[in-house]
Amino acid sequence: MLSKTQREEMASRVGAAGAAWLPGELMARHTSLGVGGPADVIEIQDPSLLPRLVEILHEYGVPWRIMGGGSNLLVVDEGLAGVVLHLARARKRLEFQEKQVEVPASQNLGTTVMECAKKNLGGMEGLIGVPGSVGGALRMNAGAYGTQIGDVVRSMKVFRGASGRVETLQPGEMRFEYRHTSFSPDDVMLSVLLELPERPYTDILERVKQCNQKRRASQPVNEKSAGCIFKNPPGLSAGRLIDELGMKGTRVGGAVVSERHANFLVNRFRATASDILKLIDMIRERIFQAYGVELEEEVIIWRDIAKLQ
Ligand SMILES: Cc1cc2nc3c(=O)[nH]c(=O)nc-3n(C[C@H](O)[C@H](O)[C@H](O)COP(=O)(O)OP(=O)(O)OC[C@H]3O[C@@H](n4cnc5c(N)ncnc54)[C@H](O)[C@@H]3O)c2cc1C
Repeated sequence: MLSKTQREEMASRVGAAGAAWLPGELMARHTSLGVGGPADVIEIQDPSLLPRLVEILHEYGVPWRIMGGGSNLLVVDEGLAGVVLHLARARKRLEFQEKQVEVPASQNLGTTVMECAKKNLGGMEGLIGVPGSVGGALRMNAGAYGTQIGDVVRSMKVFRGASGRVETLQPGEMRFEYRHTSFSPDDVMLSVLLELPERPYTDILERVKQCNQKRRASQPVNEKSAGCIFKNPPGLSAGRLIDELGMKGTRVGGAVVSERHANFLVNRFRATASDILKLIDMIRERIFQAYGVELEEEVIIWRDIAKLQ
């Protein structure tokens, strides 16, 4: 635990290094679920500062995590002891070269899909409507409607928290699986080179429209959520299992199992993280009793960092 003086000194060094120190930010304001207590956030405009900033945190023994758009995060009500690093949304443009495009990790995913479409590059249409950043999508291997981002990755620039070095990884050096990747929590994606199939803009737009319609028809897109809470067990649909048990509409505090999609838990009535966690436990228990299936969370839960290590 840092003293007040050490904390102030660290904050001023972070500022001097060129990043913004935002103490005690309510994580509820940074996450799509709209829950989560306070954490100190460092907002980074220039990703090249990352090694220096992490070095400073290291000197003070302060643990850190990296946040993207906050659309797959459930942060506990007590808040977080360490620091949350956030790469500010990229001002840098996407760099195209034939079928390849270099994208900063802080870029919005939906914007990326549409910018590529304008260059007649498709292959990511299914990802339209997945909120958040490209970095978060890469970490999660985000996917929908038969597309997952890992399929179009050619190489990736990553800051390795463990060594403090920036590396460019080739396909054989990274693994993308269903909502799982081979990266460790202290790897930070900085940028990615995507290779995309050429398709006429109008075809891509048509597919994007279809995906958007499907999403709006089947998901509670106007409510606060983190998308699917659980991963689908092999060969099964978590949403269907929850629905079959008649759990749609089940409520704990302000958290509700969406009536539109049973794998979406929505923050409808000023839920706390604790409400959502209780609902998660209740569902997991009911599913295990009924089917003997252990549901695994897709949402990333951020508890006190000390328990993470
Ligand atoms: C309405 C809704 C619909 C959704 N639909 C889908 C869907 O169809 N398919 C799907 O896959 N997901 C879906 N999601 C979940 C979520 O949008 C994705 O997982 C998204 O890719 C997360 O990106 P993010 O930037 O918000 O990441 P965050 O939520 O900020 O972080 C998620 C994880 O990524 C890590 N991370 C973030 N940025 C970086 C970085 N630069 N380097 C390294 N690690 C990083 C974080 O540490 C954390 O572990 C949905 C969510 C919502 C709210």
